[in-house]
Amino acid sequence: MRRIAFALASFSLVIAMGLTAAATEFEPRLTIAKADPGVRAVALTFDACSGRTDQRILDALLETGAKATIFVTGRWLRTNPEALAVLKAHADQFEIENHGARHVPLVTDAPEVFKVRSAGSMEAVRAEISGGAAAIEAATGAKPRWFRGATARYTRDALDELKAEGYQVAGYALNGDMGASLPAFSVEKRIAGARSGDVVIAHINQPTRPSGQGVAAAIRALKAAGVTFARLDQVETINDDGRPISAPHHEVKHQLAVQDDDHRGDQSSGDRHPSGGDELAHLGAARGEPDQRDHGEGQLQAEHDLAQHQ
Ligand SMILES: [Zn+2]
Repeated sequence: MRRIAFALASFSLVIAMGLTAAATEFEPRLTIAKADPGVRAVALTFDACSGRTDQRILDALLETGAKATIFVTGRWLRTNPEALAVLKAHADQFEIENHGARHVPLVTDAPEVFKVRSAGSMEAVRAEISGGAAAIEAATGAKPRWFRGATARYTRDALDELKAEGYQVAGYALNGDMGASLPAFSVEKRIAGARSGDVVIAHINQPTRPSGQGVAAAIRALKAAGVTFARLDQVETINDDGRPISAPHHEVKHQLAVQDDDHRGDQSSGDRHPSGGDELAHLGAARGEPDQRDHGEGQLQAEHDLAQHQ
């Protein structure tokens, strides 16, 4: 009897360890620490995962002079020399930071994250970080100080590695384009409604999607509203790794995000939670997030969506 109990206990322990090992990821949050009274400060950040450059967004940035932080991969740098030249020619406006070598999620305990193949080992994590940094240094002569991984999800060991290497991890506060998956009017309303202190994430590598038009319109609207545009390397920030995300949570959110994509035509304008909003808000509340706007469910859709087009 005791042997059976021991066997059962051991079996339970193995199951528990298995679940834990496959489930613990973090999706950091990032905001600007403080702005002077009366100043509405917003940090625009754009991911250049792979693919091409959205000239509509780049033109709006150049026209308004809005500062921005661009997270580039080694892959994107190789295929976008003209856009890189524009970024480098406006070095006071654009900060170039690390989005990895090959757009591999810095996750070591699961084979994939939202259908994107993950690093799977610390060796691969280090290669993704150092490969991205080497590509940026070769292209610009400057060493990146911020890192945002593919899917914006990380395991604890990867976060610790980034910090040990001196990186700041670029979470976000407002998902502007849900992976360039939303219609233009929705994207415009979301980003134009950014609160002071928000770090906004959007994508600058999907020139054929409607989203980019909304991003461009929002940049002009924020400029007209007198917003101060911050670069991550020029402001004080609040970096929060967030709580561990469990696998079931992860999967539920993914399903909702996919449903969201399926029903995007039904959305009312500018809804912060385009579909499944109540459930997503509930999930956000369960994580104790102080600001539940979109954080969490958007980037995964982004990366999932992008992965389908690479
Ligand atoms: Zn990306």
